[in-house]
Amino acid sequence: MSANTNSAILHRSLEKEYPAASGGDGVYIRTADGRRIFDGSSGAAVSCLGHGNKEVIEAICSQARALAFAHSSFFTSDPAEELARFVMKRSNGAFSKVVWLGSGSEAVESALKIARQYHVFRGEPERVNFVGRLHSYHGNTLGALAAGNNPGRRKIYEPILSPAFHHVGRCFYDADGKGLSEEEYEDQRISEYEAEFLRLGPRTVAAVILEPVVGATLGSVLATKNYLSRLSELCRRHGILTIFDEVMCGMGRVGTYHAWQSLGNVPPDLQTVGKGLGAGYQPLSAVLVGKTVCDTFLGHSKGAQAFLSGHTFQGHSIACASALAVQKIIARDGLVANCQKMGEVLHTFLTTSLPSKFFENGGSLRGLGLFRTVDFGTLGDVCGGPLGKEVSQKAFDLGAAVYLCSPTVDAILICPPYIMTKVETKELAGTFVEAFKQVLASRS
Ligand code: PLP
Repeated sequence: MSANTNSAILHRSLEKEYPAASGGDGVYIRTADGRRIFDGSSGAAVSCLGHGNKEVIEAICSQARALAFAHSSFFTSDPAEELARFVMKRSNGAFSKVVWLGSGSEAVESALKIARQYHVFRGEPERVNFVGRLHSYHGNTLGALAAGNNPGRRKIYEPILSPAFHHVGRCFYDADGKGLSEEEYEDQRISEYEAEFLRLGPRTVAAVILEPVVGATLGSVLATKNYLSRLSELCRRHGILTIFDEVMCGMGRVGTYHAWQSLGNVPPDLQTVGKGLGAGYQPLSAVLVGKTVCDTFLGHSKGAQAFLSGHTFQGHSIACASALAVQKIIARDGLVANCQKMGEVLHTFLTTSLPSKFFENGGSLRGLGLFRTVDFGTLGDVCGGPLGKEVSQKAFDLGAAVYLCSPTVDAILICPPYIMTKVETKELAGTFVEAFKQVLASRS
């Protein structure tokens, strides 16, 4: 019989027992059975302010007392408007409007639909194709699943995914660029896009979608130096929009407010954000809309409905008030800079503490800010199979939750809250290294 048959929930896994999370304080989550677990990956890059933040809780209560919800067909709200202005100001003019949604997948769906509608408005309805990348993840709804290419998550649904989505190779220089300079590798990647556009017919392509720093599928893999700017230029030449999906890597996690600001500083036409936006206090995501797209919408709506899509809970007042408090705290307390600082502490600690066997067998560390990955490389080949799943379980048993990447790589993503102190960073890294050593020892 499976471990959690008695639960009323159809859990992600029917094999494992899920402890009930019952409380939280700072970087820790408490369980109903009395344990304290370090939230070492902020869930999955969500809880960037940690848990129990009193200012955010007060903002939620205060908005709930005033008004919880008013449907966006009839109303806007002060927190929704103020948050939109706040995020756009922090983006230094890169975006002109915001669309609020609930989950990252909803934001991706909306970005795809905005791109489609933009071309229809401009008199190019033949633009029906989208180009994503292999080993990317954009969410679990059918459009987002089709846009991404996480093999495990797509497999069962493949026959019902739209054929309008196509995929070029990933940009993973350290793994795939052997014998090539970074520039030569970039040439190949950009040529591949160009070939795909030509194959489809460039005037049939609506947009490209990509994660500037790949998250769940590969574990904090950064686009190379000029990749995003070269791709943006290529797209501009063909009238194709760029959609950067920063649901996981964005909102400060890599040490800049948007990840693309660390990777050539060229903004996309459309950007999705989620997770860190509301820090998990309330579910909230968004599409940030650049000027080109925005002007087209404003020019064509003629007083009618501008964006032909919508979700019941979009712009939810409590979610926006909560995220506004989160975003103000991040700005006031310099937490984006703290991601940069603590990311370096984490990297240095891991570099000096992981056993030599790790590095000798192709193990590597990568990432930026507090978006870091420990990749076991080929170590699993010489010690009884992939390590990630077992190390992540062992770390949990020792008191730290860390996120296992998809089986495309044998790797663990460490992306703790932005509020980390030096002491907490070393504690988390120490628990991780101890878990890894215990798993290694058990296999020798
Ligand atoms: N896009 C990226 C890059 C993600 O990492 C995720 C979730 O992990 C999503 C979209 C989907 O977000 P959600 O799970 O909130 O629907």
